[in-house]
Amino acid sequence: MQRRILLAGNWKLNKNRAEAASFFEELAFFLEQQVGGAKFGANCGKFGKPIELAILPPITLIDSITKPALGLGVSLGVQNFCHQPSGAYTGEISLSQVADLQVDYVLVGHSERRQLFHEDDDLVGAKVRAAAVSPYTTILCVGEPLPVRQEHEHKDYVLDQLERDLSGADDLSRLIIAYEPIWAIGTGLNAEPADAAEMQNAIRGWLRVRRPGFAESVLILYGGSVKPENIAPYIADAGCDGALVGGASLSPASFVGMLQALIGVVEKRATGGG
Ligand code: PEP
Repeated sequence: MQRRILLAGNWKLNKNRAEAASFFEELAFFLEQQVGGAKFGANCGKFGKPIELAILPPITLIDSITKPALGLGVSLGVQNFCHQPSGAYTGEISLSQVADLQVDYVLVGHSERRQLFHEDDDLVGAKVRAAAVSPYTTILCVGEPLPVRQEHEHKDYVLDQLERDLSGADDLSRLIIAYEPIWAIGTGLNAEPADAAEMQNAIRGWLRVRRPGFAESVLILYGGSVKPENIAPYIADAGCDGALVGGASLSPASFVGMLQALIGVVEKRATGGG
């Protein structure tokens, strides 16, 4: 099955309204100058096209960037939400409140949420189940810490995370899995494409056995210090379906640089070169 490629930018706790507005102004310029309007239209956009772009900004920015983002064919998403529909949960935002925004994606289980905010697999699983019955596509992050990799237990660790995080979620038709080794996030220490390939194959294999109805349609992304110079082999060689990117998604130039690299991969595939 030929799945689409997704380039998703996680802005984390970065940018204010003015900075977000300039990002999209510059992005429009770079897309026109470097990708070419017509080519951009042919390669990117919503489902059904080979490459999709998405940005997950701080939730306060979403209203103000909806028009420029959607105008460029860039989807939007939220970085976090509460699994409860309403009630006494100070500081949280429910999926029914997210419905006031024009977003397609919800991020769940990012390692920063797991590590800094102590979200365990029970909570991640509850969020996955809540999102599975919502209109949103869930990007579920999994990945091992460095000591686990050093002990060569990374595959078991990640597959165990999947087992727990997806338990009780019946419909995985709107699920994306992002494999993000924790030691590679924001560190500049990216995993080798061969490491991503090993995990991508392990995850797809696990889905084939445990959730066969969804195994071929779920996108599997790589995340961890991805940038324009290193993105292509994760897709072309490792077989990942795109990337979840933090730091390099903050600059329009590097975001478009990653897109250009992905267009190169798609064009090579189209001519039978990969
Ligand atoms: C991320 O935030 O999911 C991420 C992969 O960050 P970075 O690209 O900066 O490593």
